[in-house]
Amino acid sequence: MMLSKKNQNIAESLTLAIDAKSKKMSAEGHDVIGFGAGEPDFPTPDYILKAAKEALDIGLTRYTPSSGTLQLREAICRKLERDNRLHYTPDAIIVSNGAKHSLFNAFQAILNPGDEVIIPKPYWLSYPELVKMADGVSVFIDTKEENSFKPTIDELKKALTPKTKALVLNNPCNPNGCVYDRAELVAIADLAVENGFFIISDEIYEELVYDGMKHISIASINEEVKALTLTINGMSKAYAMTGWRIGYCAGPKEIISIMGNIQSHSTSNPNSIAQYASMIAIDGPKEELEKMVEEFDRRRLYMAKRINEIPGLSCGLPKGAFYIMMNIKRAIGKKHGNTMIDGSLTFADALLDTQKVTVVPGIAFGADNFVRLSYAISKEQIEKGLDRIEQFMKELD
Ligand code: PMP
Ligand code: GLU
Repeated sequence: MMLSKKNQNIAESLTLAIDAKSKKMSAEGHDVIGFGAGEPDFPTPDYILKAAKEALDIGLTRYTPSSGTLQLREAICRKLERDNRLHYTPDAIIVSNGAKHSLFNAFQAILNPGDEVIIPKPYWLSYPELVKMADGVSVFIDTKEENSFKPTIDELKKALTPKTKALVLNNPCNPNGCVYDRAELVAIADLAVENGFFIISDEIYEELVYDGMKHISIASINEEVKALTLTINGMSKAYAMTGWRIGYCAGPKEIISIMGNIQSHSTSNPNSIAQYASMIAIDGPKEELEKMVEEFDRRRLYMAKRINEIPGLSCGLPKGAFYIMMNIKRAIGKKHGNTMIDGSLTFADALLDTQKVTVVPGIAFGADNFVRLSYAISKEQIEKGLDRIEQFMKELD
């Protein structure tokens, strides 16, 4: 029987697979250090847990409007006004089952077969698969480590063709931690307006910025670029709510309405209890978030310093999110025991086999000279994991 050719071509999410493998090995009693984590290692704050219990007590156990409750969409509008200087009304917002689901809906809503989507490399691995699922074509830009992995305007211009439909801007970026400043965003916004392409602005890591950086939403640059931008965000990272599955998108009403129709037939509404808790979360106190960011910052500085002290490895200092791209170029071509390290996959496999350390091979993000390490694990784990990586590097020849 012939199955869907298009969907047989969709790769598994390697980040989720590695995270699951690491959690399973730990549960089985193995002493694994998992640098694969794509989620905060902090619990969801208590006041949000209380809100979920309250939702049950007051009987919020039924279908909600499929694009999300009006109360949550109003809370999101208040948040966008307060934190992002963006004015939207609730009919320009859709709440989905996680930011990933909003991204899926967004590509489905804007792409026709063959439309091109520009994605700077290294990219978060779901973008190309989401584009494929919507019959689009990804056009990658090879960014440079010395430019903090940000595409230059010339590189962006070179990627444009008459088929360009959208640019994915992940700010702050997973996996490379770059954060765009106002001047860079203005230049990208001008290019989008001049050439009439959409910007999918994935801002899920907006709260996780360091070194005094301030996150800026590209849609807030001017009304022209706002009319071309879909701003994606969610509860997973800032509120440590990865399992609750609430994300959202703000954008032009016509697109949001198509996304809503798609969602109404595919998943209906996001979970009613999680929606209520998210509404309370958005207007709630920020102390726990601030503590979490301070802790991430300490780990980030420690980890970058340690990596750069290990012979054969290096990394830049990321400005946002909770990941470091570790450059392993000098390890490639060397041998570990009988294993030839010929790229990020063999590096990651050998590291797991011999040192019980998981990292995400950069090839998954289109960057085979790197592996991604998350610092969403405790400082003690980071220290131990880096000791093991140092030992692994000593054993290469
Ligand atoms: N965008 C980026 C860049 C991510 O790293 C993630 C990972 N969780 C998501 C979107 C999706 O987040 P969620 O679906 O948990 O809201
Ligand atoms: N986004 C996180 C990561 O990159 C979580 C896993 C996923 O959704 O891909 O690790």
